[in-house]
Amino acid sequence: MSDFDLLVRGRERGIGIVDGKFAALGPSLRGSASEEIDATKLSILPGVIDAHVHFNEPGRTDWEGFETGSRASAAGGTTSVFEMPLNAHPPTIDGASFDAKKAAAEKKSFVDFGLWGGLVPGNLDQLETLRDRGVIGLKAFMCDSGMDDFPRVTMSELGKGMKRATNLDLLVAVHAESQRLTEQLTKQRITEGKTSVRDYLDSRPIEAELDAIKCAIDLARETKCRLHIVHLSCGRGIALIAEARASGVDVSCETCPHYLVFTDADMERLGAVAKCAPPLRSDQDRQSLRDRLGDVTTIGSDHSPSPWSMKDRENFFEVWGGISGCQHLVTLLLDGSIPLEQVVDLTSKQVAELFRVNQKGEIAIGKDADFAIVDLNAEETITDDSLLYRHRHSPYVGRRLRGRVIQTVLRGETIFGQGRPSAKPKGRFVRPNRT
Ligand SMILES: [Zn+2]
Repeated sequence: MSDFDLLVRGRERGIGIVDGKFAALGPSLRGSASEEIDATKLSILPGVIDAHVHFNEPGRTDWEGFETGSRASAAGGTTSVFEMPLNAHPPTIDGASFDAKKAAAEKKSFVDFGLWGGLVPGNLDQLETLRDRGVIGLKAFMCDSGMDDFPRVTMSELGKGMKRATNLDLLVAVHAESQRLTEQLTKQRITEGKTSVRDYLDSRPIEAELDAIKCAIDLARETKCRLHIVHLSCGRGIALIAEARASGVDVSCETCPHYLVFTDADMERLGAVAKCAPPLRSDQDRQSLRDRLGDVTTIGSDHSPSPWSMKDRENFFEVWGGISGCQHLVTLLLDGSIPLEQVVDLTSKQVAELFRVNQKGEIAIGKDADFAIVDLNAEETITDDSLLYRHRHSPYVGRRLRGRVIQTVLRGETIFGQGRPSAKPKGRFVRPNRT
């Protein structure tokens, strides 16, 4: 009998794993193990929890799917993903659509997965079912989502949804951009035949984001709802959230690597691969986002893939908006400009805390043995060949990275190593712990 199923010898400490859980941690662990990993020249980080991916399954696996999406996540050191309710068809807005997505993911996901449910007009009575099924949270759009099967909510609908969510102890995440402003500015430009990247940028200004954040915060204050603002693009947005939190509102926020590394000029240079909403901001706004990272709760990839044909349009307003990026969520953050401990908090510990996934998020005794072994000194340039997505395009192609994921381990089993993903998907469904 071995003491451990797996023993990892790290630079600072050893990690002993039994039955998929961390069983012993210490500077010089002794004991026998059926398998050993020598990581003495490498760093061991907690498995990344990417709380924002769109894998488009069921219904749109020609865009991505759990198999290719989760394999790319695993290659990037991610051990859990929370998958968004839209871009799959049907969208995840009731019990049946939830069950269909869960069944697909159980067969195909290489990483553990949580599922978001949608808050859309007319599905208030489905929220309890979704809660009982174990949704990680609810997602609503305050402006058009770009998907006809996932309509936005009005302020009154959002307020009612939040109230119901409070009673069900569910978190509500919103895409915060003002419908009134974005619609008006978009219409104006399209009528004038202005359809360049710059016109698109101008149609979704920071004011539209700030306006929607304020409205969402007011509703959260009224309804006592746990509010989460996804993909914040600028420091001014974070300031509003920090202020609301200080006054007692339960509000958290997420940003994404693309807002931290790219600017509006990059969107103009890169074009369709870099289209997202809210759009990329000025260099000054990007810097202010970095300066206020201490008030950000989580960093997620917002991996939102599509076939190239949906990107290939003259009119930039008609280009599919979504960045493929889940494979590099954490490695994009390892260049040393953000302290490593903060990167780990934002991509793992604070994600597990916010979504109440208590068994994950830390290398600690009794928790799931999810971790990534990383060479922080390795340098590499992202090439399209190295992308594991169904469609190998990403604005990060050509970018030089510091830090390479050598091995990813999920509940004690290697899911990525020696440059290859594992042969079999073993991802399991993850639900929030109820208090
Ligand atoms: Zn998204």
